[in-house]
Amino acid sequence: MNIKELVKPNIRSLRAYHAEDLPCRAKLDANESPYPALSSQQSAVSVKNALQSLNRYPDPQAISLRKLLATGLKVKPQNILHGNGSDELIQSLIATFGGPVLYPVPTFSMYGIIAQSLGERRGAVPLDEKFDLDIDKFLDAIKKRNPKLIFLSSPNNPTGNSFSYDRILKIIKRSNGIVVVDEAYQPFSSKKSFIPMLKKHKNLVILRTMSKTGLAALRVGFMITHEDIVNEVNKVRLPFNLNSLSQKLAAAALSDEKPILANVKGIISERKRLMREMKKIKGIIPYPSDANFILFKVEDSDIIHRMLLKKGVLVRNMRGVVDGCLRVTAGTPGENSEFLRMLKQLMTK
Ligand SMILES: *Cc1c(COP(=O)(O)O)cnc(C)c1O
Repeated sequence: MNIKELVKPNIRSLRAYHAEDLPCRAKLDANESPYPALSSQQSAVSVKNALQSLNRYPDPQAISLRKLLATGLKVKPQNILHGNGSDELIQSLIATFGGPVLYPVPTFSMYGIIAQSLGERRGAVPLDEKFDLDIDKFLDAIKKRNPKLIFLSSPNNPTGNSFSYDRILKIIKRSNGIVVVDEAYQPFSSKKSFIPMLKKHKNLVILRTMSKTGLAALRVGFMITHEDIVNEVNKVRLPFNLNSLSQKLAAAALSDEKPILANVKGIISERKRLMREMKKIKGIIPYPSDANFILFKVEDSDIIHRMLLKKGVLVRNMRGVVDGCLRVTAGTPGENSEFLRMLKQLMTK
């Protein structure tokens, strides 16, 4: 029996998501925070508390967590929906509204992968030479394809820059469908969030995550949007999508955000240092970043990737996404110095 023949055609042509798990001293490949958002002591209290009701299902509505998130963002809990990571919300949004799904490229790969896995049509519009939205081409694509969903990661992964505010706004205004502004990296950005625009634009969804600021292991993502959209997407959300441990630990982190904010501040200053130092290295071009990582061009990304790994530094090879490019996440000052030292060594050979 050939199992492959039983699989839906849209799944047959997909490949399973591959995250490299290579042994290294400095893990700078996945845009994680080098600092956990909770001390092990704080975590222990929340875990102990959660362990007392392991026989019970988690709160399906994640009420405490959504209240805390709402207070922090100055919105109402009914404007927030929680996901098992924002990845899950991308899936729920596409399951709810369907395609065509439109996004610029290069961008976060999951928009396309999830659209395909759900059998929806998708369209990709190349960014301009500054990695900003090519507004004429994008508006053209909107007119031609009338997408139900548009995904804009701003700051954009993997390029690092934010898209022009005015161009995003134009897309929100011209779209007859939903526009999702994925603000996974907003905490690291000096540019404005689109959250204040929610009042004016009913078709706007903001995605956020706790993964890049020190809680990636918990898988806590959320969207902020009009109550009508929350209610529709809530129909496809599985009832117990966010486990009790994640809910309690995330709530603990949110009840005092000072350590997270301090970590974010440190990471921003390290990103700036990385940028300054990388600009001095001959043979590489680092691109401006509002995120916790920097995309940079080298002559042969395969070689540099392999050589860095040999020296214990793991970065992400963007071959096939942005050719000749690597992406490095800002780590601890020690890890970043190590990365810079190794890169300088390789480039002056
Ligand atoms: C990392 C990332 C996500 C996924 O975050 P999770 O909450 O961990 O699923 C979503 N969007 C972008 C642009 C990302 O880089």
